[in-house]
Amino acid sequence: MKFFHIEADKAPRYTGNLDAGHKWGLPGVEPCPTCGVSGGVVGLQYPCVDLSSLSERKKFDDPWPVPFEEFARLRELVRPLAPQGAMLEPGTRFGPLEGTGSGYFGQLFMQNPWSLYVRREALDRLSGDGVQGLQGCPINVRFRVKRPPELLAFQLELHGRYHPDCLPPDRKQPCPTCENDPLKRPDPMILEAASLPVNLDVFRLRQAWTVIIASERMVGAVQRLALDGVIFRGLETR
Ligand SMILES: [Zn+2]
Repeated sequence: MKFFHIEADKAPRYTGNLDAGHKWGLPGVEPCPTCGVSGGVVGLQYPCVDLSSLSERKKFDDPWPVPFEEFARLRELVRPLAPQGAMLEPGTRFGPLEGTGSGYFGQLFMQNPWSLYVRREALDRLSGDGVQGLQGCPINVRFRVKRPPELLAFQLELHGRYHPDCLPPDRKQPCPTCENDPLKRPDPMILEAASLPVNLDVFRLRQAWTVIIASERMVGAVQRLALDGVIFRGLETR
């Protein structure tokens, strides 16, 4: 199985823009006493996870950094509502996207490299074509256009890691206290074949979750169905 990095098609006709954010999030953390890293991550999001049943849900409205212990406590409140095995880092976002949208959207759409959306009819056609593991979540966005698209946000599992051949030999290890990994994205990326899923056709790279990856089954379906809005770049696997 071949794998591909999904990127936005930058052609000028795709003017779509979502001025919106997810409803809830885990707060950031205060500076780590060992490595000094603080704040929260970008790009980890679970748009189908609903925190409205939590009595402390108001605490998930505010990304302001909290001590690590408080972050860890709030994370355990969320864990039962999140997908099994989900990564829940400081700054992880949950729930439907809320805000406004404008412009022209393709059948697939990326607001940024880590946020993938799909029109409902395109999702149905991909599933009908045998693409596996697609989960589309409703969004709560007001569109300023005559015929608004019915966009869904992909909720993506995290799988896969880099092959050691593409990592620097002097690589620094993650912080023992907060587990922050200082690794920068290798260029080019090489993925470890054994770490990649077999029954899931679109996912985030677990070691770098801002990277969204499609299997050749997904790419083949997108091309057969002539769905537009994204491009695919082949990735080397070993
Ligand atoms: Zn640290």
